[in-house]
Amino acid sequence: MSTDSDCLFCGIVAGDVPGTRVAEDEATYAFMDINPATPGHLLVVPKRHSADLLEIDPADLSAVTLAAQRIAAVARAELGADGVNLLNCCGADAWQTVFHFHLHVIPRYADDTMTP
Ligand code: 5GP
Ligand code: ZN
Repeated sequence: MSTDSDCLFCGIVAGDVPGTRVAEDEATYAFMDINPATPGHLLVVPKRHSADLLEIDPADLSAVTLAAQRIAAVARAELGADGVNLLNCCGADAWQTVFHFHLHVIPRYADDTMTP
């Protein structure tokens, strides 16, 4: 498994950095966002390090997307979310701050106050 010793999310996947794990499979790892935009906001990452959308291996992108879809369904069923945003930021100018590819899964509620 390719990891980057300087990468925060590689550290969370490895258990070297604290994180609240929600789900995991062979290729992906999901954990709660430390600064949630809405209740239940989490991040899905490939276990194998890649910096961003343009670098990620297509098989890892597929695995992460499918994991996010499964988690979105759970968010609707168990958190009572009225909708879900999937978000990826690719590049610092597009708001990416952690350079290990991740999909945000953001449950949305009819009365939430989230703004872009
Ligand atoms: P980006 O801006 O790169 O799309 O998203 C990075 C996300 O990582 C942000 O939503 C931020 O709250 C989250 N984050 C940053 N540091 C940590 C951390 O140490 N632990 C967790 N669980 N999330 C983090
Ligand atoms: Zn990494």
